[in-house]
Amino acid sequence: LWQETLVHLEQALNPQHFTTWIKPIRFVSLKKDLIQLEVPNRFVLDWIRIHYSQLIQETLSNIGAVVYRIQFSIATQNSDSILPENKLSPGINKNQQEIKIEPQPRSCNYAFNLNSKYSFDEFVSGSSNQFAYAAAMAVANNPATTYNPLFIYGGVGLGKTHLVNAIGNAILRKNPDMKVCYYTSEKFMNELINSLRYAKMDEFRNKFRTMDVLLIDDVQFIAGKERTQEEFFHTFNSLYESHKQIVVTSDKFPKEIPGLEERLRSRFEWGLIADIQAPDMETKHAILKMKAEQNGINLPEDVALFLANSISSNVRELEGFLVRIGAFASLTSTPVTLTMAREVLKDILVEKNRELSIEEIQKVVATYYNIKVSEIKSSRRLKVLVLPRQIAMYLSRQLTSYSYPEIGERFGGKDHSTIIHAIKKIEKAIENDYQLSATINNIKNALAH
Ligand code: ADP
Ligand code: MG
Repeated sequence: LWQETLVHLEQALNPQHFTTWIKPIRFVSLKKDLIQLEVPNRFVLDWIRIHYSQLIQETLSNIGAVVYRIQFSIATQNSDSILPENKLSPGINKNQQEIKIEPQPRSCNYAFNLNSKYSFDEFVSGSSNQFAYAAAMAVANNPATTYNPLFIYGGVGLGKTHLVNAIGNAILRKNPDMKVCYYTSEKFMNELINSLRYAKMDEFRNKFRTMDVLLIDDVQFIAGKERTQEEFFHTFNSLYESHKQIVVTSDKFPKEIPGLEERLRSRFEWGLIADIQAPDMETKHAILKMKAEQNGINLPEDVALFLANSISSNVRELEGFLVRIGAFASLTSTPVTLTMAREVLKDILVEKNRELSIEEIQKVVATYYNIKVSEIKSSRRLKVLVLPRQIAMYLSRQLTSYSYPEIGERFGGKDHSTIIHAIKKIEKAIENDYQLSATINNIKNALAH
């Protein structure tokens, strides 16, 4: 068994690290869930404990050994000189150190970063998210056999992180032996940078490539980061080829993520792409009811309807308002009423009902497409500029009360017929182009209207 473990470790580690740290370990015994290993000295012991005990334990589990405790002892001939007698607490064998891995349900060893508070049960599905919800459930029920990769995209606070974690938790409940890993793409990048700095790339690669399920949240952050995209590309291929489930989320459709490499984009399109739209009134209402119950807030029907109707479609924000109202009620020992809710949210509501400016629309659209506001206002006919420009014009008409000539003026002095033409074009396009209409909804969501 130990021989086999060594073979795996040798593959997983850089040869020098393997020779320095792992090779000198001598196998002593394996009894039940306890493995005893011997190392040459205290220094090696500490080093292994910090850097390799988890890997060793994982490797053992991977080859089928249920090991909860690893006991290291120091080979006798070296120990005395290294370990001064007086530094030891009484009662502890000076040459032994045991690393105890809490005998949790085995699954916990395989849940990397997963947030256990997110489940499908606590996700309200409605027309705005039912496609993503159904796809997520399908993946959770049959990982790597239905949709691979699953790509979920949608605006801020609409439940992407909740859904991917729910997938991971559901898979683990059904398959406690699977290795399920949740990472934001940012964390993936930071870990990569560290691994490069400390020459631990083998460990890094091995870690991700031995997962059964890899959940990468907010992948848009790695756009433009060449090295990270390359590494992620190889991780993706390796997992995909060995039929492991990959789930990726983003705030945009793959084609619209500026700076995302073509090869990654095309891989994201191999599987299923599901969007989450801003929730409609009914869904917001249902979410509020559920969250109120979870937080022990007594939410009368009229207040729930008022909240669902009058404010944000960002669920995270909605939750924040609810918590504020609940806190106010509890601090003042008064029940939640409509008057009270209006009072507590007064400032926010004024802010929300204020009319948008065309400048804000231009700015949000420009940011979304990673172009400059001046480019949106210009007359350049480049394809990458024309669509955002037309969308900005369309939204300016839809979300403000400016006239066509006034809009034209704010788009670098264009004729009103240019504006009318652009708006007609978008109106027509969204009739058949589901993706475009989802994009526009996304931008509206970012504008919080
Ligand atoms: P995102 O990752 O898309 O920005 P999150 O998943 O972090 O959004 O969701 C924000 C908050 O809203 C979380 O607390 C989440 O539980 C909640 N939430 C979002 N959508 C739903 C939903 N459909 N049902 C219940 N809670 C939701
Ligand atoms: Mg998120």
